Amino acid sequence: MPVQGGVRAPAVIRVAAILAAVTALVSAQAGAPDAQALRVEVEGDLTDTQLEAASSRRIRLGPAAGSRGAVVELPLEVYVARVLAGEGSPRAAGAAQQALAIAIRTFALANLGRHARDGFDLCNGTHCQVPRAATAASRRSALATAGRVLTYAGAPAELFYSASCGGHSESAGQVWPGINHPYLQAAPDDVHDDEAPWRLVLTLDQVQRALAGVGFEGRLRDVRVEERSASGRAARLAVPGLSPNVIAGEPFRAAIGTTVLRSTAFAIERRGTMLHFTGRGYGHGVGLCVIGAGRRAARGETAAEILARYYPGLVLAEVAGSGAPASSAERTVPREADPPPGTEIDRIAAAAHASLSAVLGVSLAPIAVRVHDSIESFRQATGQPWWVTSVAEGTSIDLLPPALVAQRDGLESAIRTAVAELLVGPALAGRPRWVRVGAARHFARHGARQPSEPGPEVRCPSDAELTLAISAAAQRAAEARAEACFARAYARTRNWRSVR
Ligand SMILES: [Zn+2]
Ligand SMILES: [Zn+2]
Repeated sequence: MPVQGGVRAPAVIRVAAILAAVTALVSAQAGAPDAQALRVEVEGDLTDTQLEAASSRRIRLGPAAGSRGAVVELPLEVYVARVLAGEGSPRAAGAAQQALAIAIRTFALANLGRHARDGFDLCNGTHCQVPRAATAASRRSALATAGRVLTYAGAPAELFYSASCGGHSESAGQVWPGINHPYLQAAPDDVHDDEAPWRLVLTLDQVQRALAGVGFEGRLRDVRVEERSASGRAARLAVPGLSPNVIAGEPFRAAIGTTVLRSTAFAIERRGTMLHFTGRGYGHGVGLCVIGAGRRAARGETAAEILARYYPGLVLAEVAGSGAPASSAERTVPREADPPPGTEIDRIAAAAHASLSAVLGVSLAPIAVRVHDSIESFRQATGQPWWVTSVAEGTSIDLLPPALVAQRDGLESAIRTAVAELLVGPALAGRPRWVRVGAARHFARHGARQPSEPGPEVRCPSDAELTLAISAAAQRAAEARAEACFARAYARTRNWRSVR
């Protein structure tokens, strides 16, 4: 088949570790943020101009996924004041607001490369942090803590916070498999004792519809908590009657709606077709608890004490005061970094594109391959756990660190599969996910060779089996079935574009 002219070699972008310059360590004492450093009170009404003067850099803020809007550049401290107004609890005492301001700033600086592919630093949705109009109080807290971040091993720490842990925080690894930060472990929080539990009633039908929306198939018969995490949250739910018949706790909550099902710290009682949920807390429960921080401040704890409580082991430090980097894009995504692995991946991707575009009669140019340095960076960019090897969308590929990929199918096979997925993507848009995944795997392995006869009948995986697998083994099994399913249909139709 003809290859279109003008096909350019895939560009390789290596995602470097994204670290803001951390200069002066405020605390000499590792593990205990310095309480003295935070006894700063700012009086009077502040303006954005004052916050701008205190900002070490600017943040490029873009629209949340699925929404429209321009990219705006905000001085760091103006951004912190706005997010604090959006995420904080307005009536909490100053120390709680300051602790949250530091967590918000740390999150921002640790996640600057998250939306590099979209052309900005952070989005304005719950995926990153939600800004609102700043208030006098949020401006004061941003200014009082200007430039202060929590660091781990000398760099702004990857951290999280949530509205309320409900009495026991959750470990990060339980919510995002593969993360294992010593400062984000599950721990009891003794300030929630007087809180009443929340209640929610859903019908089996409502839950089935919500799960169908994220790719589950079948008729739901029941919902049961099958496994709980160390903090007591629902880690895994059985959903008999659906395919797959199991889902992890947080994806379940996300499918129902994170503001409807407030947390995964719940018990379920079934009465006929009604499911009665009783639970505690609001949010994923990892890291600083906004409600808990407010209660700690009210009983006299300082911002530093609150932070030490929710992020044990992190060090309070200050980012560079002035001379902000000209552009984070240039700084965080150096195109020419690490030539040897880049060249190797570039070569594999170019060869895969050349051979596969000839087989499929489709070409795409240029393809950007983002090779991540760490599982954290891959997860931040894609939202996928470590058992997903690559994410191929549009014209770009996100790949796990090569050392990990090499242990699985091998680097070459992984890149060929991802390139094939990009190539078949447009023609297979709107089909079940197994068609695209199966076609990519089939062509990456077998090239132009057509299956001589249909293989054994296999049940094609539902979309959710491919996107919400609860383990590496489940992910592999679903992908293998997608390939078998595709090969069977392809042997019949002899035209990959008509498989559905
Ligand atoms: Zn985002
Ligand atoms: Zn709490």
